[in-house]
Amino acid sequence: MTSSPRASHGGSPASLARDFGGLVHGAPARVARPSSAREVSLAFRSAGSDGLAVAVRGAGHSQSGHTVVRDGLVIDTSRLCGVMLREGDILEVGGGQPWGGVIDALHGTGLTVPVLTDSAFPTVGGTLSAGGFGAASVRFGAQVGHVERLEVVTPAGDLATCSRDVEPELFDAVRAGQGQFGVITRAWLRLRRCPSRIRYYHLRYVDMDRLADDVERLYADPRYGHLRLELRPHAGEALFRVGIEYEPPGPSPLELLLGLGCVEAQFAADADDIGRAGLLPDDQFPRQRFYPWRDWFLPWRALRRLLARPPVPLDVLPDELGWAGCFFIGSAHIDAPALVRPPGDRFFSYSVLPMFERRAEAVEARARLDVADRAIRDLGGCAYVSGATGYDASRWRAHFGEARHARLVRLQRAVDPAGLLRRPGLPFCA
Ligand SMILES: Cc1cc2nc3c(=O)[nH]c(=O)nc-3n(C[C@H](O)[C@H](O)[C@H](O)COP(=O)(O)OP(=O)(O)OC[C@H]3O[C@@H](n4cnc5c(N)ncnc54)[C@H](O)[C@@H]3O)c2cc1C
Repeated sequence: MTSSPRASHGGSPASLARDFGGLVHGAPARVARPSSAREVSLAFRSAGSDGLAVAVRGAGHSQSGHTVVRDGLVIDTSRLCGVMLREGDILEVGGGQPWGGVIDALHGTGLTVPVLTDSAFPTVGGTLSAGGFGAASVRFGAQVGHVERLEVVTPAGDLATCSRDVEPELFDAVRAGQGQFGVITRAWLRLRRCPSRIRYYHLRYVDMDRLADDVERLYADPRYGHLRLELRPHAGEALFRVGIEYEPPGPSPLELLLGLGCVEAQFAADADDIGRAGLLPDDQFPRQRFYPWRDWFLPWRALRRLLARPPVPLDVLPDELGWAGCFFIGSAHIDAPALVRPPGDRFFSYSVLPMFERRAEAVEARARLDVADRAIRDLGGCAYVSGATGYDASRWRAHFGEARHARLVRLQRAVDPAGLLRRPGLPFCA
């Protein structure tokens, strides 16, 4: 199978002046749209000789301002696309390829990506630079754990192919490296074999203790391959979306649901496209709104406490607009040292994703979420750097731990001697 689904995320310089979050603004002076590793190298070299700061941009779905650079050069990866199935269930894919095209290319092959995020728009290079979590993280951890090899162009303009065996230091820095070590131009991803269908149920809970019991039970039962929990504290309830991959006829609802502590269980969907079936509706979060989103990881032991008493004030939690919830994550497949997470064989994510019409409201919510960040760190949690963090240099050091941060800073200096990618607020600035 070979396909080159067109990437649709490239935009005008004006549209590159903000990211999805919309809280950081700055139009670039120039935009490069390379279609090969060689052109990425030329773009870095031209920025170096013209003294321009550089930002690497995939679909711009992050919210931290990492892809925004006022008066600098944006390297827009939208032409670095293409999907090709290789021997041994390996997928070779362009770094700028949106995941939607990957899902569509694999549909009907009996193969899938181990973990998909909630949205089809982000690119392969973009989510590998963050970590990449989703409902299937319960069984397969993070996307960064399923990468075999990466082709990377460093800010010095050098082309490297790295893996666990070849240039492992670079491989370990680039995965979850926030785009600070170069551009992922191509990735080789390990796929998994999958059954032909998936069925979803929605389980509604009003008793958070019973919900916590069921999280434990479903986590322990491998039939439940997809778990996504939506928290609705305003309504005093939670909605658990539970997905089961199967070959027909599959298990009966009675087998799957009997004995659970929910007050209502509804059949939600049955589909032959395991990839698409798990995605959020495209219009759930319209562009051009303001999203001061925060994502965290918490140790498993904090689960009951978080469900009973969310550490974020109720008036900042999304009500009608937005989303708050959890993925449950097995650590076994996560071997990317730049991805900071709680210790142990499992942990969970907690995302607070409010949506605002007006920027001022979003800025105010962001400040309140900074306070929540401290409360979550007190519970043993840490930021998942896919949304905003607002961290300064000393907080970044604390986030990574002094030794790990120093190692990553050293490598960042080595691959980016001119400091093209370094800007205040980014993780490896000092
Ligand atoms: C609606 C929505 C739903 C989401 N759902 C999830 C989810 O379920 N799970 C999850 O884990 N995340 C989720 N995210 C977060 C999203 O996956 C991350 O922010 C991701 O980094 C965005 O990918 P992107 O292609 O848009 O990257 P961008 O936002 O363009 O860039 C993100 C970072 O990656 C770097 N980067 C981008 N491309 C490359 C490349 N080719 N090489 C090197 N560095 C690069 C950038 O410099 C930047 O630091 C969601 C975001 C949105 C808006």
